[in-house]
Amino acid sequence: MIEEKIKDVIRDVIDFPKEGIVFKDITPIMLDPALSKEIVAYLASIYKDQKLDKIAGIESRGFLFGYPLAMELGLPFVLIRKTGKLPYHKISHSYDLEYGSATIEMHVDAVQKGERVLIHDDLLATGGSASAAAELIQKCGGEVAGFNFLVGLNFLNGIEKLKNYSNNITNLVA
Ligand code: AMP
Repeated sequence: MIEEKIKDVIRDVIDFPKEGIVFKDITPIMLDPALSKEIVAYLASIYKDQKLDKIAGIESRGFLFGYPLAMELGLPFVLIRKTGKLPYHKISHSYDLEYGSATIEMHVDAVQKGERVLIHDDLLATGGSASAAAELIQKCGGEVAGFNFLVGLNFLNGIEKLKNYSNNITNLVA
Protein backbone atom coordinates (compact mmCIF):
# COMPACT_ATOMS: atom_id res chain seq x y z
CA MET A 1 0.00 0.00 0.00
CA ILE A 2 1.21 3.46 -0.88
CA GLU A 3 0.21 4.77 2.57
CA GLU A 4 2.62 2.32 4.20
CA LYS A 5 5.43 3.25 1.82
CA ILE A 6 4.98 6.94 2.63
CA LYS A 7 4.88 6.22 6.36
CA ASP A 8 8.07 4.18 6.09
CA VAL A 9 10.12 6.95 4.49
CA ILE A 10 8.82 10.03 6.33
CA ARG A 11 11.19 10.93 9.11
CA ASP A 12 10.21 12.30 12.53
CA VAL A 13 12.61 15.02 13.64
CA ILE A 14 12.20 15.69 17.33
CA ASP A 15 12.26 19.27 18.68
CA PHE A 16 12.41 20.97 15.27
CA PRO A 17 12.05 23.91 14.69
CA LYS A 18 11.54 24.26 18.43
CA GLU A 19 11.25 22.14 21.53
CA GLY A 20 8.13 19.99 21.74
CA ILE A 21 7.48 19.84 17.97
CA VAL A 22 7.80 16.55 16.10
CA PHE A 23 8.60 17.66 12.58
CA LYS A 24 7.46 15.34 9.78
CA ASP A 25 10.31 15.47 7.28
CA ILE A 26 9.02 14.46 3.84
CA THR A 27 12.30 15.08 1.99
CA PRO A 28 13.16 11.34 1.80
CA ILE A 29 10.19 10.98 -0.56
CA MET A 30 11.93 13.31 -3.01
CA LEU A 31 15.01 11.06 -2.88
CA ASP A 32 12.85 8.23 -4.21
CA PRO A 33 11.66 9.05 -7.74
CA ALA A 34 9.70 5.81 -8.11
CA LEU A 35 7.71 6.50 -4.95
CA SER A 36 7.25 10.15 -5.96
CA LYS A 37 5.75 9.07 -9.29
CA GLU A 38 3.55 6.55 -7.54
CA ILE A 39 2.23 9.25 -5.19
CA VAL A 40 1.39 11.59 -8.06
CA ALA A 41 -0.38 8.79 -9.94
CA TYR A 42 -2.29 7.80 -6.81
CA LEU A 43 -3.40 11.37 -6.10
CA ALA A 44 -4.44 11.77 -9.74
CA SER A 45 -6.58 8.64 -9.47
CA ILE A 46 -8.39 10.18 -6.48
CA TYR A 47 -9.07 13.53 -8.15
CA LYS A 48 -9.45 12.77 -11.86
CA ASP A 49 -13.26 12.62 -11.74
CA GLN A 50 -13.86 15.48 -9.28
CA LYS A 51 -14.39 18.12 -11.97
CA LEU A 52 -11.60 20.33 -10.65
CA ASP A 53 -10.56 23.47 -12.51
CA LYS A 54 -7.30 24.18 -10.68
CA ILE A 55 -4.92 22.93 -8.00
CA ALA A 56 -3.54 25.46 -5.49
CA GLY A 57 -0.37 24.62 -3.58
CA ILE A 58 0.74 26.26 -0.34
CA GLU A 59 4.37 27.42 -0.11
CA SER A 60 6.68 25.72 -0.07
CA ARG A 61 6.24 21.99 0.40
CA GLY A 62 2.77 22.21 -1.12
CA PHE A 63 4.50 22.90 -4.43
CA LEU A 64 6.39 19.59 -4.40
CA PHE A 65 3.38 17.41 -5.21
CA GLY A 66 0.79 20.07 -6.05
CA TYR A 67 2.38 21.07 -9.35
CA PRO A 68 3.15 17.52 -10.58
CA LEU A 69 -0.42 16.53 -9.63
CA ALA A 70 -1.81 19.47 -11.61
CA MET A 71 0.29 18.49 -14.63
CA GLU A 72 -0.79 14.86 -14.34
CA LEU A 73 -4.44 15.98 -14.33
CA GLY A 74 -3.88 18.53 -17.10
CA LEU A 75 -4.92 21.37 -14.79
CA PRO A 76 -3.46 24.83 -14.06
CA PHE A 77 -1.47 25.23 -10.85
CA VAL A 78 -1.87 28.23 -8.50
CA LEU A 79 0.91 29.34 -6.14
CA ILE A 80 -0.10 30.49 -2.66
CA ARG A 81 2.93 32.15 -1.12
CA LYS A 82 4.13 33.88 1.99
CA THR A 83 3.89 37.64 1.89
CA GLY A 84 6.29 39.59 -0.33
CA LYS A 85 7.25 36.75 -2.68
CA LEU A 86 4.81 37.10 -5.58
CA PRO A 87 5.72 39.77 -8.15
CA TYR A 88 2.37 40.72 -9.71
CA HIS A 89 -0.87 42.27 -8.31
CA LYS A 90 -2.10 40.09 -5.50
CA ILE A 91 -4.68 39.56 -2.78
CA SER A 92 -3.71 38.72 0.80
CA HIS A 93 -5.13 37.06 3.83
CA SER A 94 -3.74 37.29 7.37
CA TYR A 95 -4.37 34.72 10.05
CA ASP A 96 -3.40 34.12 13.66
CA LEU A 97 -0.57 31.84 14.71
CA GLU A 98 0.15 30.59 18.21
CA TYR A 99 2.38 33.63 18.60
CA GLY A 100 1.71 36.53 16.23
CA SER A 101 0.23 36.27 12.75
CA ALA A 102 1.08 35.31 9.17
CA THR A 103 0.01 36.58 5.77
CA ILE A 104 -0.29 34.61 2.56
CA GLU A 105 -0.84 35.90 -0.94
CA MET A 106 -2.06 34.85 -4.37
CA HIS A 107 -1.98 36.64 -7.73
CA VAL A 108 -5.29 38.40 -8.44
CA ASP A 109 -5.77 36.62 -11.76
CA ALA A 110 -4.88 33.12 -10.51
CA VAL A 111 -8.46 32.04 -9.75
CA GLN A 112 -11.61 33.12 -11.59
CA LYS A 113 -15.18 33.29 -10.33
CA GLY A 114 -16.85 29.88 -10.07
CA GLU A 115 -13.68 27.81 -10.51
CA ARG A 116 -13.40 24.65 -8.42
CA VAL A 117 -10.01 24.62 -6.71
CA LEU A 118 -8.35 21.80 -4.78
CA ILE A 119 -5.98 23.08 -2.06
CA HIS A 120 -2.89 20.94 -1.49
CA ASP A 121 -0.15 21.04 1.15
CA ASP A 122 2.33 18.51 2.47
CA LEU A 123 0.87 18.44 5.97
CA LEU A 124 -2.23 19.44 7.92
CA ALA A 125 -1.53 20.59 11.49
CA THR A 126 -3.91 23.18 13.02
CA GLY A 127 -5.47 23.95 9.64
CA GLY A 128 -4.53 27.65 9.85
CA SER A 129 -2.58 27.72 6.57
CA ALA A 130 -5.12 25.72 4.59
CA SER A 131 -8.03 27.81 5.93
CA ALA A 132 -6.21 30.99 4.95
CA ALA A 133 -5.66 29.51 1.47
CA ALA A 134 -9.38 28.75 1.29
CA GLU A 135 -10.16 32.38 2.20
CA LEU A 136 -8.01 33.55 -0.73
CA ILE A 137 -9.80 31.23 -3.16
CA GLN A 138 -13.17 32.45 -1.93
CA LYS A 139 -12.12 36.13 -2.10
CA CYS A 140 -11.65 35.61 -5.85
CA GLY A 141 -15.08 34.00 -6.16
CA GLY A 142 -13.63 30.50 -6.48
CA GLU A 143 -15.10 27.40 -4.88
CA VAL A 144 -13.00 25.28 -2.53
CA ALA A 145 -13.50 21.83 -4.06
CA GLY A 146 -11.47 20.10 -1.35
CA PHE A 147 -8.24 19.81 0.58
CA ASN A 148 -5.46 17.29 0.13
CA PHE A 149 -2.44 16.59 2.31
CA LEU A 150 0.19 13.87 2.32
CA VAL A 151 0.15 13.84 6.14
CA GLY A 152 -2.58 14.78 8.62
CA LEU A 153 -1.77 15.36 12.29
CA ASN A 154 -5.29 14.38 13.26
CA PHE A 155 -4.85 15.00 17.00
CA LEU A 156 -4.68 18.76 16.25
CA ASN A 157 -8.25 18.77 14.84
CA GLY A 158 -7.34 20.88 11.81
CA ILE A 159 -10.06 19.08 9.90
CA GLU A 160 -12.76 20.80 11.96
CA LYS A 161 -11.53 24.21 10.79
CA LEU A 162 -11.43 23.09 7.16
CA LYS A 163 -15.00 21.79 7.23
CA ASN A 164 -16.11 25.46 7.12
CA TYR A 165 -14.94 25.44 3.48
CA SER A 166 -15.32 21.87 2.22
CA ASN A 167 -15.98 18.39 3.62
CA ASN A 168 -13.79 16.84 0.92
CA ILE A 169 -10.63 16.47 3.02
CA THR A 170 -8.05 13.75 2.34
CA ASN A 171 -4.70 12.92 3.86
CA LEU A 172 -2.74 9.86 2.77
CA VAL A 173 -1.16 9.13 6.15
CA ALA A 174 -1.89 10.14 9.74
P1 AMP B 1 -1.04 24.49 10.08
O1 AMP B 1 -1.26 25.80 9.38
O2 AMP B 1 -0.96 24.59 11.55
O3 AMP B 1 -2.05 23.44 9.62
O4 AMP B 1 0.40 23.98 9.66
C1 AMP B 1 0.62 23.40 8.42
C2 AMP B 1 1.81 23.99 7.73
O5 AMP B 1 2.94 24.06 8.60
C3 AMP B 1 2.22 23.13 6.56
O6 AMP B 1 2.64 23.99 5.49
C4 AMP B 1 3.36 22.28 7.08
O7 AMP B 1 4.37 22.15 6.12
C5 AMP B 1 3.87 23.03 8.31
N1 AMP B 1 3.93 22.17 9.52
C6 AMP B 1 3.24 22.38 10.67
N2 AMP B 1 3.53 21.45 11.58
C7 AMP B 1 4.42 20.61 11.00
C8 AMP B 1 5.09 19.41 11.42
N3 AMP B 1 4.91 18.89 12.65
N4 AMP B 1 5.91 18.79 10.54
C9 AMP B 1 6.10 19.30 9.31
N5 AMP B 1 5.51 20.43 8.85
C10 AMP B 1 4.68 21.08 9.69
